[in-house]
Amino acid sequence: MAQAVPSLGAAYAQALARWLGDPVLRLAGRPIITECYRSPERQEELYKQGRSKPGPIVTYKRGGESKHNKLPTPALDVAFILPDGEVSWSGLLLSKFARLMKAADARVRWGGDWPGFKDRPHFEV
Ligand SMILES: [Zn+2]
Repeated sequence: MAQAVPSLGAAYAQALARWLGDPVLRLAGRPIITECYRSPERQEELYKQGRSKPGPIVTYKRGGESKHNKLPTPALDVAFILPDGEVSWSGLLLSKFARLMKAADARVRWGGDWPGFKDRPHFEV
């Protein structure tokens, strides 16, 4: 998170504190950042997935086009560690976390709100 732009880092820290301060949410799982800065080379590899490489399409941005490719980085991706230790990308948990992120800073945009391709783990300013 040291690579994140300050407003995004502050929004995440506040949303995380609210999440962990809520006994129901805390029992559901713990938010984690899976990625913040991503090199243009890695972005290009991800772009190939579902196109010239096997797997599902995970991005529509080529290397250098994603907000993840900038430093400091105005984007981060979130997942959850569930009580059993599994990593989860639950849409329900992500939508609950998105509410806290948007409440922390009105400039936060959630990929789950985008028309068309929903990128629910994704937050950006
Ligand atoms: Zn993302």
